[in-house]
Amino acid sequence: MAKKQFKAESKRLLELMINSIYTNKEIFLRELVSNASDALDKRHYLSLTDQNYHVDDKDLKITITRDKENRQLIIEDTGIGMNKDELEKNLGTIARSGSAEFRDSLEKAEKNVDIIGQFGVGFYSAFMVAKRIVVESRGAREDQAYSWTSSGEDGYVISEIDKPETGTRITLDLKDDTEEEKYSEYLEEYKIRELIRKYSDYVRYPIQMMVTKSVPDPTDKDKTIDTQEMETLNSMIPLWKKNKNEIKPEEYNEFYKSNFNDWEDPQKVIHYNVEGNISYTALLFIPGRTPYNFYYQDFEPGLKLYSHNVFIMDKVKDLLPDHFRFVQGLVDSDDLSLNISREILQQDRQVKLIAKSIEKKIQKALEDMLKDDRKEYEKFFDNFGLNLKYGIYKDYGIHKEQLQDLILFHSSKDGSYVTLKEYTDRMKEGQKDIYYAAGKSIDEIERMPAMAKLKDKGYEVLYFLDERDEFVSSIMQKYGDHEFKSINKGDLDLDTEDEKKEKEKKQEENKDMLAAMKDALGDKVKEVRISSRLKDDPVCVVADEGVSLEMEKYMAQDPLNPNKVKAVKILEINPDHPVFAKLQKVYADDKDALKSYAEVLFDQALLIQGLPIDNPEEYARKIADLLVKA
Ligand code: ADP
Repeated sequence: MAKKQFKAESKRLLELMINSIYTNKEIFLRELVSNASDALDKRHYLSLTDQNYHVDDKDLKITITRDKENRQLIIEDTGIGMNKDELEKNLGTIARSGSAEFRDSLEKAEKNVDIIGQFGVGFYSAFMVAKRIVVESRGAREDQAYSWTSSGEDGYVISEIDKPETGTRITLDLKDDTEEEKYSEYLEEYKIRELIRKYSDYVRYPIQMMVTKSVPDPTDKDKTIDTQEMETLNSMIPLWKKNKNEIKPEEYNEFYKSNFNDWEDPQKVIHYNVEGNISYTALLFIPGRTPYNFYYQDFEPGLKLYSHNVFIMDKVKDLLPDHFRFVQGLVDSDDLSLNISREILQQDRQVKLIAKSIEKKIQKALEDMLKDDRKEYEKFFDNFGLNLKYGIYKDYGIHKEQLQDLILFHSSKDGSYVTLKEYTDRMKEGQKDIYYAAGKSIDEIERMPAMAKLKDKGYEVLYFLDERDEFVSSIMQKYGDHEFKSINKGDLDLDTEDEKKEKEKKQEENKDMLAAMKDALGDKVKEVRISSRLKDDPVCVVADEGVSLEMEKYMAQDPLNPNKVKAVKILEINPDHPVFAKLQKVYADDKDALKSYAEVLFDQALLIQGLPIDNPEEYARKIADLLVKA
């Protein structure tokens, strides 16, 4: 029988397959099973539309045979089959080989860009694991069956054969094992089981295989014997295609755990179906815990993509916005081609529409959870809130409007979480700004000198306990009409008109003394002034507009940031504290002595604020001197 040559581009693809160092060779089985499933779909349709070709549903199936002795893996279907022409046309060339896109991909692949995993490679992918392939097929309308045999690049042979049943049988002579690649694994029961579960579980036709089962020994009931038995390996019904009302929570949970590498139940399941402009079904999960590598480079976000019940691709990033990258799950759309590649995904209009629609659904689910089940939402927020905050300041804040109502803060009210909406809704009459204090712990914040006064006046203060909170607020700038204001920064505007006048009077009366203190401190401060934010403490240091004290601390820790930016500082004095009277007295009696007082008070203010002081020894000595004098 004359050997025929492959068409040029098919040959190039074949060479690529045969010499592939692609590590995910196992996908060949998915490709062959999905071809078989398509052929079964066609035969099913023919049977339904032409009674001359009737076939019982139970006879539509895929059978996998492992022949260890001959090192062969056989995949057989009772689908539509191929006649001689079709064998030639379908397997001698590739349908896509005419397209520019395909040529493009081939070129990339030849330049060693790994496209095999990304490109629906179809039947030829079997050449990654087989040194010879025999396809025996009999078309549904044919009397004669044919075989197609090829060992790769050098062409193929087509011959007449005897095959009584309609359908296709593909026999793979597996390659010899090498150091890197154990092809004989594809002859093991567990491996085939695993691959079918992984890739083809939801194929609508049974995928059957002979398996070994232990059964009780009829002659000795304490013993078991091994028997061979035909088993259907796939579950056949996609969970996501089932009616929502018929799915038990455990089913969702098991499905999640077995498919998404988690041992904990998901916190929330989002399962829905969209029909219309674009049609798809989505089954999404919010994990019950933060994946250990969630904030590291090796965490791969994305959804699984199915089309026509067939698994196409894992971790499709384009289906999820970054701020919701914690969501796991899958999308099944019949509007997408099975051969869609990762490169095409990014530009695909349908994919973009699906992604937009998914984003809306997740957003809505989170908003509903926040509204209806606060406890659950807070748990979610503890797991993934940080990612929402990233979302707010990423890309210069373009998502801030969308995400700002999903973030939570602790506050001085009762220590529990509060949303920005709740905070602003219950603001004191006349309060313009949103007050916040940034610190490492609630304790640290509650000890801040300004806290006592704010609490006294009945203002609620948000606790920024995460280092990024201040960045988030600076990107947001405002929530509604309300600006964010650090309690340790600038002018807090807490006073009534009368109090303001009183303060200005004191400032004026003591201006020489305050100026003398500023001189004593030199460049360390921009100003020394009367405070309106202090209640119990004698002094505090605050930042002028711009860099805050917390940012200064944060930058100081960052080893990658050599530019230690510092806040411009202001020393504030509590005019109602006995220390103030003492300062006035010292200034009146001995102007030089004021210097030590100014220095000690400034260092003290830094320490309370958790900032380092320049010279601890000198500070200690001055305290000792003052103790002796007192
Ligand atoms: P694709 O499936 O993307 O079209 P393949 O290279 O996998 O590309 O297959 C080429 C063609 O060969 C298929 O479109 C189909 O017509 C035919 N074919 C492959 N496998 C089978 C099969 N098991 N039964 C019938 N036809 C098949």
